[in-house]
Amino acid sequence: MNKTTKFADLILPLPLAQLFTYSIPEELKADVAIGKRVVVPFGRTKFYTGIVKNIHNNPPEDYATKEIISCLDESPLITSLQLCFWDWISQYYQCTLGDVFKAALPSGLKLESQSKISANENFQTKISLTKTEEQILNVLQHSKDVNISTLNQATGLKNTLPQVKSLLEKGAISIQEQIVSSYKEKTKEWVRLSSDFSESEMSLFINQLKRAKKQQEMLLSYLNLSKHYFEENANKVSVDELLQSVGSAKGILKSLAEKNILEIYSEKIDRIDLSQTETSGLKELNKYQQEAISEIKTSFEEKNCVLLHGVTSSGKTEIYIHLIHEQLQEGKQVLYLLPEIALTTQIINRLKSVFGNKVGIYHSKFNDAERVEIYNNIHQNNSKNAYQIILGVRSSVFLPFNNLGLIIVDEEHENTYKQFDPAPRYHARDASLYLANLHGAKTLLGTATPAIETYYNAKSGKYGLVELFHRHQDIEMPEIIIADVKEARRKKRMKSIFSPELIQMIEICLENKEQIILFQNRRGYSPYLECKSCGWVPHCPNCSVSLTYHRYNNQLVCHYCAHSIHPPTVCEQCGSTEIEDRGFGTEKIEEELMSFFPDAKIGRMDLDTTRKKMAYEKLIYKFENRELDILVGTQMVSKGLDFDNVSLVGVLNADSMLNYPDYRAYERSFQMMAQVSGRAGRNKKRGKVLIQTYTPDHPIIKNVIENDYYSMYSEQLAERKEYIYPPYFRLINICLKHKNQTVVNQAASVLAKSLRKVFGIRIFGPQSPVISRIQNFHIVNILLKIEKKSSPSKAKWILNQHANHLKSMDQFKSILINFDVDPM
Ligand code: ADP
Ligand code: ZN
Ligand code: ZN
Repeated sequence: MNKTTKFADLILPLPLAQLFTYSIPEELKADVAIGKRVVVPFGRTKFYTGIVKNIHNNPPEDYATKEIISCLDESPLITSLQLCFWDWISQYYQCTLGDVFKAALPSGLKLESQSKISANENFQTKISLTKTEEQILNVLQHSKDVNISTLNQATGLKNTLPQVKSLLEKGAISIQEQIVSSYKEKTKEWVRLSSDFSESEMSLFINQLKRAKKQQEMLLSYLNLSKHYFEENANKVSVDELLQSVGSAKGILKSLAEKNILEIYSEKIDRIDLSQTETSGLKELNKYQQEAISEIKTSFEEKNCVLLHGVTSSGKTEIYIHLIHEQLQEGKQVLYLLPEIALTTQIINRLKSVFGNKVGIYHSKFNDAERVEIYNNIHQNNSKNAYQIILGVRSSVFLPFNNLGLIIVDEEHENTYKQFDPAPRYHARDASLYLANLHGAKTLLGTATPAIETYYNAKSGKYGLVELFHRHQDIEMPEIIIADVKEARRKKRMKSIFSPELIQMIEICLENKEQIILFQNRRGYSPYLECKSCGWVPHCPNCSVSLTYHRYNNQLVCHYCAHSIHPPTVCEQCGSTEIEDRGFGTEKIEEELMSFFPDAKIGRMDLDTTRKKMAYEKLIYKFENRELDILVGTQMVSKGLDFDNVSLVGVLNADSMLNYPDYRAYERSFQMMAQVSGRAGRNKKRGKVLIQTYTPDHPIIKNVIENDYYSMYSEQLAERKEYIYPPYFRLINICLKHKNQTVVNQAASVLAKSLRKVFGIRIFGPQSPVISRIQNFHIVNILLKIEKKSSPSKAKWILNQHANHLKSMDQFKSILINFDVDPM
């Protein structure tokens, strides 16, 4: 860098719009460069890691600059492509570069005064440390809850950050975030012989077990499965496998263990990290898939983005795998995006079995150290162990790719691709298109149920469109049967929450040893309690929602702020003691199933049962392994799972989705029902789907029955046009929050009035959202709808001006205002 350059503009992890100019001291002039991290003081006591955005010679006019303390990187950590990407995110989604910085880097790479640090217990002291590093490590080993500020005090050093960084790299310490275990820990129980018995000893055992036929049978089966006396290397036999082979209970195995013949041991299995490098090769594509892939390639010659609209189980994933393979051969990187809940071990294993260690996973359940590792791995792309494929969630768009060839956005219609809170409120699918353009790469969007906007873009020629209407092996789409709940109630034929049709179909499936998935878009036991005599419903004191009843811990819980109380026994309004639960969630379905089908093995998959480490993986594994007959769940069960023995899917209450007050409710209901139906009959036999509803003639239900995406799309599109919504108009939501309801209402009406002077009838509101108070903040929204062809950047600039003006008024300075561009 130029020796005369004196100043650097930095991005700091703060929600402030501007860049911050610092001066570069003489001794750092050779080091500081664009994209590197530097440490700077901020205010009196704080300091931050900042990213160098520009370097120049112009002193700021209105403040005296402070000096950069140190430079953390030898080469830029943030590439110039990434900085362009950050700029785009911040401009398009109307947030600060600081917000983007915070979202883009794992904590371990953005140390700040408040980052919590701790010593690693199993650090190898063989690695050499400097004196100061040792001093710091010593402090950390003897105290808890240390952050960099307290560390500075404890060591008497002015700034320990460079040492902290170096200790991090040496693996001596870590930065804490919520440490959620990664996939790695999974144990499995195995069986082996208690010692190395000779063949004659073994025959003796077998003989002795003459009277314990079941034990004898099990032992023989073990010998058979393990091939112990037949082959050099005996096969490993799992407990499950052995029990299944003879159809007996674990008690029998325990008896054999007590006799010291067999032994049960457990071993960690690493289902994700298949350390073997041998890979299973590509599957040959069927003729429809071959056609689709060649259409995709032709389409890519003209278009940067192609939508692959393929029915569930048509083998979209196989097509992706072939495309990835081609990219790798050209030495390109691939980003494969999945929504959070669809990133399961199933898909990970499928990719790993083809691409082995070239696949890196980026998941929000990974702890920070792992995320830093992946970040660094991609950053040092030239090394031999570099990942070439990243399978990841939303935030993986921020990884430092340098050579992307293809981005795949699977289940592109999923709304979890959009970050809701905090800023940047970006949509990973839409951001992917920009990211791909920066790299000269292509984007493939895939789904069975495209978002209306996406399909519109494909139909209007902005994207390519490739459609795949055949399931692999031409398995028929499931048969969809409707149960009219209203009619059944009238005739008093409902069995609790189940229609007679559903009960009967479950019975048949259980008899045939086929599996069942039941879907209800609500967790908990019942959505609310209600006083039978006056209709009083217990509400959350902090939010404007009713409390959901959870039976397992007998609590009423707020799903927005987690506030929880014991259910009241007396009505607060009229004193009646008759308080009943209303509606039903997954927990109640599970309980009711147990009473109707006491012999069935039932599992439940929702937010409440999957909080613990590995719980989600365990449930999937058990279901795959047929240790469960019925899986009850929320939308978690609808995403991308591939079970081959599911012949029935039940949707317990279609109406709750259809009646949701949102312009996307019909689109979402269709997507949800079509996706969950897609879990049925994925192998050989045609599956069945039963939908319970009060409105069997609803047009969306009809579309689902006929598997008619196109009609749903056309009808929705007409409505969108009539009511001025996307894809015809662009929406920007302006959200105002304050603890005082009067203040927020006043502020919103002042702002709406001033915006109306500019935008006229394009301004809607102010209006309260369905849930108008969360954690004691009152919320009011103003919605701007602008024509697709008008300049969004100009509109955004005007919005900012008006919001800043509002906040400059004394009575409104504590109002929180945020923008949500393309809200979901
Ligand atoms: P989608 O992603 O469209 O839902 P998948 O790729 O999961 O479909 O395919 C459904 C099932 O069919 C999977 O179990 C997959 O392994 C299998 N399958 C799809 N295409 C092929 C193929 N060409 N050869 C062998 N198996 C295939
Ligand atoms: Zn009452
Ligand atoms: Zn609440």
